[in-house]
Amino acid sequence: MVATLMRLRSLLVALPLLAMAAASVTERASSNALQAAGMGAASLSALGVAHAHPVAPPPILAPDAVLSADAVLSAVAPVAPEQPAGMLELPPESEAPVAAASADELSGVRWTVPRRMRLNEVCSHWGLWPSELRELNPELGSTDWLDEGTRLLVHREDSRRPTRSIGAPTKGRLHAGIPLPEGAHWVMREHRPHVFGARNTIEGLLTALRVYGADDAHAPPVRIGEISARYGGKLSPHVSHRSGRDVDIGYVLSEPADSGRYWRFADERNLDVARSWRLLKALIATGEVQQVFMSIRVQRLLAREAAKELSGDELAGMFDVMNRDPRRATIVRHESGHRDHMHVRFKCEDGNVRCRARSHGGL
Ligand SMILES: [Zn+2]
Repeated sequence: MVATLMRLRSLLVALPLLAMAAASVTERASSNALQAAGMGAASLSALGVAHAHPVAPPPILAPDAVLSADAVLSAVAPVAPEQPAGMLELPPESEAPVAAASADELSGVRWTVPRRMRLNEVCSHWGLWPSELRELNPELGSTDWLDEGTRLLVHREDSRRPTRSIGAPTKGRLHAGIPLPEGAHWVMREHRPHVFGARNTIEGLLTALRVYGADDAHAPPVRIGEISARYGGKLSPHVSHRSGRDVDIGYVLSEPADSGRYWRFADERNLDVARSWRLLKALIATGEVQQVFMSIRVQRLLAREAAKELSGDELAGMFDVMNRDPRRATIVRHESGHRDHMHVRFKCEDGNVRCRARSHGGL
């Protein structure tokens, strides 16, 4: 891996995610993720990823460098060292690198009040008590009404209560979850009590969504559904979504997003396959995704698009609909109920011994 990274031209640094993924990858139980990560470096050649404020940069890389998504894949791939240098395609120099999520930007997360609202309504949107909201935003004083456009702090990191995913996705909980911040390339429902995740979940999501939207002025915003509650636990009607590692993400559709339903069924008539594949690739390239649940029907459409870039073996390692080997685990797996959105499960954070990758029964 060192040799591979050193070959990268003028470059850069990686996500803290990358450092974690690279260091711990051999210990990861999820061999399917490794297969996916090891698949063709060329498949992600167009996606650039940079990191502005690395928390713990890998020692072999200089700060303020930029790492291509290819390099992210190579770094977490167990087979990367044999890869000839020529296989690494770097993004064109003119392409601006995409800033990966940084720990700094998540130490305090702000939200823009979308319309004139009562403070109590804001509290119910965010699962906060009024006293908590006022403590986060002392400038509010005793105000009961908030004007449209007001910027509020809705999360502040507290070193005494670090963010932790505890237990399994179907049984666990979350300590001091971090809300997914707002951004240009994604949307969330106005009501936000369930958009909290573990740190690697939120960092991975942010990075992938920024990669998705980079250099694509017409990319429609990705719909993000529920993640977990601020402190995790049961989240009806989901079986999982309890420990800050599960995220519901809409497919990118080619039809206008004005229908009343938040989730819309995807099929060959309305799926924007190129952009949906770009999104899936960006998620997997973070090295933090353990599993993606997606219906067979949508998988087939995306696999056809992916086949333009991946070999048959790589496809079989990624999509269960393309896999004929029952002993082989794939990163994308059918699970009913995922025709109108995919469910992305992030890995346990490196070093978090209280996190359990899976529940009994494999879910
Ligand atoms: Zn889900």
